[in-house]
Amino acid sequence: MNTQPSTPNRRILVVDASHGAHDAFRDALARYGSTAVGSHVADRGFDVRSASNGAEAEQVARTARLAGEPIATAFVDISRGPTGDGVDTAQRIWRADPAVQIVFCAADTDDAWHDILNRLAGRDRVFVLRKPIDPAEASQTATALARQWAAQHDLTPRLGQLESHCQQRDAQLAQLQRALVTEQSLRRTAEQRLEHEARHDALTGLANRTQLIERLGISMGYLHGPDDYTFAVMTIDLDGFQSINDGLGPKAADQLLVSVAQRLTTCLRTLEKNSRLTDVVARLSSDEFVVLLDDLQGPEVVDAIVQRVQEAVTNSYELEDGREVRVTAGIGIAIADVGYREPDELLRDADNALAHAKALGKGRYVIFDAKMQQESARRMQSENELRTAIDTGELELHYQPIVSLESGRIEGFESLVRWPHPERGLIPPNDFIPLAEQTGLIVPLGYWVLHEACRQLAYWRERLDGQQHLSVSVNLSPEQFRQPDLLDQITRILEQTSLPAEHLKLEVTESAVMHDPDKATQVLQGLRERNIRILLDDFGTGFSSLSYLHTLPIDVIKIDRTFVMNMSLNGEHAATIQAVTTLAENRHLRVIAEGVETADQLVQLQSLGCHFGQGYYFARPLDATQAEVLIRDGGQWLKSA
Ligand code: C2E
Ligand code: MG
Ligand code: MG
Repeated sequence: MNTQPSTPNRRILVVDASHGAHDAFRDALARYGSTAVGSHVADRGFDVRSASNGAEAEQVARTARLAGEPIATAFVDISRGPTGDGVDTAQRIWRADPAVQIVFCAADTDDAWHDILNRLAGRDRVFVLRKPIDPAEASQTATALARQWAAQHDLTPRLGQLESHCQQRDAQLAQLQRALVTEQSLRRTAEQRLEHEARHDALTGLANRTQLIERLGISMGYLHGPDDYTFAVMTIDLDGFQSINDGLGPKAADQLLVSVAQRLTTCLRTLEKNSRLTDVVARLSSDEFVVLLDDLQGPEVVDAIVQRVQEAVTNSYELEDGREVRVTAGIGIAIADVGYREPDELLRDADNALAHAKALGKGRYVIFDAKMQQESARRMQSENELRTAIDTGELELHYQPIVSLESGRIEGFESLVRWPHPERGLIPPNDFIPLAEQTGLIVPLGYWVLHEACRQLAYWRERLDGQQHLSVSVNLSPEQFRQPDLLDQITRILEQTSLPAEHLKLEVTESAVMHDPDKATQVLQGLRERNIRILLDDFGTGFSSLSYLHTLPIDVIKIDRTFVMNMSLNGEHAATIQAVTTLAENRHLRVIAEGVETADQLVQLQSLGCHFGQGYYFARPLDATQAEVLIRDGGQWLKSA
């Protein structure tokens, strides 16, 4: 932008009806005008133009402006004439050029100057000179206004620019404000949605676990109040939902769950207006619903509502595709009292009662009682003790040899966990693995077993000569098998214990695999890619289907000992073993027979083509020291047939 100030604008217009006035101005400007412009100029640099009335003045101003030589200042006689007064003239001049500065020449008798100003807009461009005109004063005024016009002229475009910037800014600001308001409203909606999602079950719209626990917490707070307020928790589980789900398919099963949810909602009591709380129905998982029965006013209320729930749920359902379904539900109830400290304890007891109801058959309900309470307390104690045993490394691994039926050589060991309990003695796994599985303790327990078994075998391989072929088999429970970090954990354990992966074998059961065969196949493949061998444990006790043996990525089949036990009595069992060994041969799998207890069994298993045997006939599970002695003695089962 050009920052040089413009040259003062010395173009003057004198508007007066009298000729004398024009001459007087010319003289004054010539005599006293600025010396900034050469003094040789007659009017000392002022370009003085004349008009005798408003119309002429307007004309002169317009012509000058259009010619690019705008008038800076007009000296206007203010006295009233036939063609109007000075104010009218000023307005006409401004019509032609709004930038012209007006100097009114007023006699004392003329209207007071402030009246003039009051009648005019654009007062910042209006000045007053008293008549009779003093030449020096007129000249100074003209000079000053010549400069002011120039300064204003410089300023006007910049002001214009500034104004346009401001307008743009305002527009942007308004746009931003609109965007902000939209954003805030969207965010509010999203927050409300998230808050709703965080507290509701997506499928049914019922309360979810978070909301239920919150409500239980509030109700539990009232238990300690002065009145004898109490409430109950009712856990509802559809009988045989898994097979209903499999039969209907996931979409129709979801429809069914939504209908069940709606029916449960109709069973809630509308409590009196002044009641503190209301009943709540929540869905915790697949077909597990929970009802909080608030403000129980007697045990008969529970019976009445149970009946209502049973009736509502049991009525038949018509699905969208026209199919009709009938379901029944098991119900477990826990009634709150001051002994409960956490909402989870109540839910646990209601679940416990539900398990009892399920054991009684379909469509049954059970209220949690003192006997169950004792059982539950015992269980809790066991759970705590087991947790401590895992944390403090109190568990022990025993090792049972797996023997080649061909050579009698000990090929490896199965690691079998034991819990040396200070009061109850050595507890076998069947007495605590189920508890560990129910409570999730199986995960840390399982990793401890894996680590210990790998460490022990690595130690034997390093310390004992000629035992490089030995392997260790570790049992994996279904829950462990489902851990997403299983592969990483095993890789880490192998690194920590320096055991080559090909010496670790993992035993998985049919049920672990069949729970989700696609996922299982993926995990098994991942393990085998790391050179870890997979043993299918307890074959014959679960689905006992030979068909999936064709496709599962496994290396060894372990035939369950119930088959071995009854082999000589039951021709069918021998035939199954035969079928398994034949199939294994085709797929290049190996077969281990579990529970070999007699020489007869051994002979028969050999003739049926089993490759390996494991059982009391060879050795019972041994502690690490005994197993080491066995290996040192040659790692050979000497009585081999
Ligand atoms: P399993 O994997 O089938 O282990 C074989 C079971 O059969 C062992 O019982 C073993 O002592 C027993 N056994 C071996 N030979 C004979 C025999 O000739 N006759 C008879 N009657 N029994 C024999 P144990 O040690 O009581 O283990 C029972 C089950 O506990 C195991 O069955 C396995 O499923 C589970 N288990 C053991 N240790 C672990 C572990 O570390 N993790 C997991 N997840 N489960 C384990
Ligand atoms: Mg096993
Ligand atoms: Mg087994």
